[in-house]
Amino acid sequence: MKTDFSLFVELLIHSGFPEILTYGLKKEQNLEVGHWVWVSLGRRAKPQLALIINIHDKKPPFKVKGVEAHPANFKLCPVSLENLLWTAKYYCTPPGIVLQSTLAKEFPRYLEHLYNPPKRKLRTFSPDCDNPQAPPPLNLEQQAAVEKISPLLAGDGFRGVLLHGVTGSGKTRVYVELVRQHLEQQGKVLILVPEIALTPQTRDNFQRYLGEPVYLYHSNLSAPEKRATWLALLKDEARIVLGTRSAIFAPNLNPSLIIIDEEHDGSYKQQDPAPRYHCRELAFHHAYKHGALVVLGSATPSLESYQLAKQGQLHLVELKKRALNTPLPEIQVVDLMAQAKQDKNLTLSPILRETLTEHLLQGNQAIILHNRRGFATSRQCLNCGEILQCEQCQVPVVWHKQHHGLLCHYCNRIYKLENPCSCGCEEFEMGGAAIEQVEEEIRQWIPQAKVLRMDRDTVARIGASEKLLNAFRQGEYNVLLGTQMVAKGHDFPQVQLVGVISADLGAALPDFRSSERLFQLLTQVAGRAGRAQQGGEVILQTRNPQNPVLQYALQHDYPAFANYELPLRQELQYPPFKKLLAIEIAGKNLDRVEKLCSYWQQVLAKQKDIEALGPAEAFIAVIKGMHRRHFLLKGDNTQILRHISENLQKTTPEAMQKGLNIRFDIDPMGFV
Ligand SMILES: [Zn+2]
Ligand SMILES: [Zn+2]
Repeated sequence: MKTDFSLFVELLIHSGFPEILTYGLKKEQNLEVGHWVWVSLGRRAKPQLALIINIHDKKPPFKVKGVEAHPANFKLCPVSLENLLWTAKYYCTPPGIVLQSTLAKEFPRYLEHLYNPPKRKLRTFSPDCDNPQAPPPLNLEQQAAVEKISPLLAGDGFRGVLLHGVTGSGKTRVYVELVRQHLEQQGKVLILVPEIALTPQTRDNFQRYLGEPVYLYHSNLSAPEKRATWLALLKDEARIVLGTRSAIFAPNLNPSLIIIDEEHDGSYKQQDPAPRYHCRELAFHHAYKHGALVVLGSATPSLESYQLAKQGQLHLVELKKRALNTPLPEIQVVDLMAQAKQDKNLTLSPILRETLTEHLLQGNQAIILHNRRGFATSRQCLNCGEILQCEQCQVPVVWHKQHHGLLCHYCNRIYKLENPCSCGCEEFEMGGAAIEQVEEEIRQWIPQAKVLRMDRDTVARIGASEKLLNAFRQGEYNVLLGTQMVAKGHDFPQVQLVGVISADLGAALPDFRSSERLFQLLTQVAGRAGRAQQGGEVILQTRNPQNPVLQYALQHDYPAFANYELPLRQELQYPPFKKLLAIEIAGKNLDRVEKLCSYWQQVLAKQKDIEALGPAEAFIAVIKGMHRRHFLLKGDNTQILRHISENLQKTTPEAMQKGLNIRFDIDPMGFV
């Protein structure tokens, strides 16, 4: 076979091969960067689908094989390709891994559909958007917001807006108007929401008023829906895509308007596996590099975004009133320390119990938040006091009545409740009331209650949360009891009471964002109350009523919270004032983990321009038998941090790193 090539292509294998590979190209093949080709790879029998990312004429010092053009002749647009390669670089992840993580596993089949549609009839899916309705008129505040933002819709380069609107202020109505105007300008729109469960409601809102198909993009689509979205993208027919985190990679969409709703939400950050990206960062990059308007919406903006707005890098647009002119809910604080003596074993204070009963008797709905899964969070031996921990993870196991045992929340291992303690004793005290216990208590004390529990244990199945939320919206239940899941952007007009069983949970976590999270959670869950009428009522139970964060949430005073929290961040040199890189080293062999840690500690100590904290035991020191140690690096920009992490790995003998799990996380969000 003749192997004389005049051109060479660098390409990425679609199925996740980390390295960039070089193949030969014949001039007459007429292929360009972005085209998909077939190649043979090593000893793999099947040809592999690959993406051309570069073409050059420098002959490599090794023999190369040729490529075969894919008959679909599909090309990934330069913008999508650039974003992909930037993601790889920014998040220290091999580009082949980024490519794989952004493609549907059916991608090869979708490509085939482009030139060779299947003969057999496929179940089709077409978004229903006939008979659009006129949207409700904008109120004065919404009108003013639209007037401020719409001049930014057309233009070049980066444009960014922080839309800070109190809960129930009708941010979605503003988005609809912006999208409508932008479609008239022939723009394309990407809308991100933090939860799959929010996508149906949000899609209906947009389609109803725009009369334009809104394509869904998330990890839980039915096969026909997924195909419809992907084919629309590949054929360049999609003008509006709505999705969760992964939709930021919707190929060839090249949006000129990106809306990130509830932008503060932690789900916009991918934790594992790599690339550990944040949607906001990718949206900013896209806007800087390719030109777009980014609209970040929230009632409780992340301090990163708020600081950017304060510095004038984002336009700050505010909605201070609720859309229907209902007042913000009245918040009442119940001091659990003062209550503790009377009912030690109950989770609901008398006042919460009575208020809940009243509301249910009046036919209202209520949301109760308790951010702890299971029935009781610990099993303590009455003889020796030992708290039962998971053998592999060194965390207390949680009693779940639903699962008939004690469950480890890190490795999902279940222990029998009646297993004796290591001292032989078989009598225990179950501590830390969790959500199943609250459920039992409500059923027991309030006969009118029809309780719907929503947490990771009840919505494990696909589509379950959507069904449950609909059932609640339609009034089949009158109490929605849930973990933080229920705090996110849902609109339940009949909810008049929100109760928080413990406003203190999470405050003790070793995370510089724990105050911010608490403020967000309380404000967001309180915001579910009284959206349609009267303003509603919120009852917060706490052991620490003087906590300033709680006080700001009570007064619905975000700026005061930010003014309290930002100086603390600055003093301690945390974001938004510094950039962070977290390094986790994990392994079964503790000696090897510690050896690498002390080696890196010495290397890091010599680095200028950064501050390196650690190595420290992770908050949960052992998970699934893996010992975990952390470094936290602070620097002025991610470039410095990235540079250091690359050098760390390059200059350390491979034998020291072998067999250990080493995880680099730029802009980390969780520290457990
Ligand atoms: Zn014991
Ligand atoms: Zn475990």
